[in-house]
Amino acid sequence: MRARAATLLLLLPTLAAAQDNPDWNKVQVKATKVAGQVYVIEDAAQEFSGGNVGVSVGPDGIVLVDDKFAPLAPKIEAALKTISDKPVRFILNTHYHGDHTDGNAAFGARSTIIAHENTRKRLMAGRGKERPPAPAVALPVITFEDKVVVHLNGEDIRAIHFPSGHTDTDVVVFFTKSNVVHMGDDFFNGIYPFIDTEGGGSAKGMIANVEKLLDVIPADAKIIPGHGAIATTKELRDYLAMLKGTTAIVEAGIKAGKTADQLKKEKALAKYDAWAKGFFKAEDFIDLLYADLKRSN
Ligand SMILES: [Zn+2]
Repeated sequence: MRARAATLLLLLPTLAAAQDNPDWNKVQVKATKVAGQVYVIEDAAQEFSGGNVGVSVGPDGIVLVDDKFAPLAPKIEAALKTISDKPVRFILNTHYHGDHTDGNAAFGARSTIIAHENTRKRLMAGRGKERPPAPAVALPVITFEDKVVVHLNGEDIRAIHFPSGHTDTDVVVFFTKSNVVHMGDDFFNGIYPFIDTEGGGSAKGMIANVEKLLDVIPADAKIIPGHGAIATTKELRDYLAMLKGTTAIVEAGIKAGKTADQLKKEKALAKYDAWAKGFFKAEDFIDLLYADLKRSN
């Protein structure tokens, strides 16, 4: 079990890259308005081309939140051209994973990259054979510990660090005037999330972060998840209920002395089957939660 969980954890941050040479030519991305002056660049098929990209457009230039994979940069730029002729001035990374930061290498020479200090550290360090250290051009040049505000296009764009959720590099971005929030991978809308415990994340940390966020995100705000369709606080509440429910089930199983295989055989997460249609099947999510909760208990 331990070997399997470890393999899973190594594979997932580079999921698309691991899908033997994805055919980037087939990926189609488009810019869709979210609210105010904020757009999202997503791909119709979802999940394959990396995380959702948040975009602020206005007279001062473009701010991107995340930038998918480097080979997709020309497609992202073509999608941006449909909504603005201004240059990309700043890029905020929500966390260090390649499906959100790999495009830094393409944009970094002419845009300023901003991220949490742990994102820079983890990009510099790389991670095994799957992910070598990032080249200098792809590294954030401005880093912060708790929060940073980008004042552009007449809007305060606030990036706030949340500890130990999806990773230990997580940042949530608030477009305060447009009433839009980009949650990065602390929110997978409608599907089981990846929790990168080797990258400093934890299920309980993710739950705590989502609870804190539900206290501050306005009820009528639009939410861009790291993966999945644009959401509201309603879908975020459903997500929180799923996280709490699945965590409680696996934790109870551990306390009762059950193995992960027993929980799988019992179909312990059957109630949450609707969430198993993304990166994770129920068995994988049991492995992930089991390893995380076993470690933290
Ligand atoms: Zn991620």
